Amino acid sequence: MSVNYAAGLSPYADKGICGLPEEFDSPEELKIKVETLAQWIKESQYMVVHSGAGISTSSGIPDFRGPKGVWTMEERGETPHFNTTFEDARPSLTHMALLQLQRTGHLKYLISQNVDGLHLRSGFPRDRLSELHGNMFVEECEKCGKQYVRDTVIGVMGLKPTGRYCDVTRSRGLRSCRGKLISTILDWEDSLPDRDLNRADEACRRADLALTLGTSLQIKPSGDLPLLTKRTGGKLVIVNLQPTKHDKHAHLRIHSYVDEVMGQLMKLLGLEVPEWAGPTLQTLNSPLPRALSQPDRN
Ligand SMILES: [Zn+2]
Repeated sequence: MSVNYAAGLSPYADKGICGLPEEFDSPEELKIKVETLAQWIKESQYMVVHSGAGISTSSGIPDFRGPKGVWTMEERGETPHFNTTFEDARPSLTHMALLQLQRTGHLKYLISQNVDGLHLRSGFPRDRLSELHGNMFVEECEKCGKQYVRDTVIGVMGLKPTGRYCDVTRSRGLRSCRGKLISTILDWEDSLPDRDLNRADEACRRADLALTLGTSLQIKPSGDLPLLTKRTGGKLVIVNLQPTKHDKHAHLRIHSYVDEVMGQLMKLLGLEVPEWAGPTLQTLNSPLPRALSQPDRN
């Protein structure tokens, strides 16, 4: 399936500000800024990262509002260019660096607006990740909430039925759930998935450092979540080439490619960026707890 999933969404007028010019820090400026970020990460007790489409452009998946983004091109009456399919896309250096930061305890929670599935496919643990706009590879039972992570894209969008049914066996092994499976991809007017949003909200309030990577922070409520960390006394660092909606709130703004920033950062932290060994398929055997602090109520 083509990565032009945007074509499967309803028409919607307000797509935010598209195609703003990109800015680049000088190499000297960039070095000093990444050193500051590395220092803040070392001092941080609870870092949350917010990822947007900008972290997948080096994987061949276009962003939305960049100079060649899906909505920018649409405004000009042009078609965006796709270099890959979702199934063939490889996690970027940034995806792999985030995985390593999670493994080493530097990154406590990851909140993504991306639907390309690359965080899960890189091996990032589902219980440390909120996918606020859904995942092209995940379908969910509308009855019991079980999620099924597939190795090919679901092919249906806007929370619509996929034509498959839930095979969860209820206690005593007598009856299976048989609930309808639906796509997890949100359309414009759909509300965000409760449990992912609640967990994201909780992590943001708890965080002392919010790092946003490759997002213009224009979509609500996802784009406003990093402000929760600042409001509770934490620091906000924004890495993006274009201006973002919340630049004025940032303690540090870095204008460079996210892969460049993450590459330099990992060196300063003395961490390797792991090689990708192929897609990780995570099966979720039970619905996720609604919030990090609450026990699962089955
Ligand atoms: Zn079910």
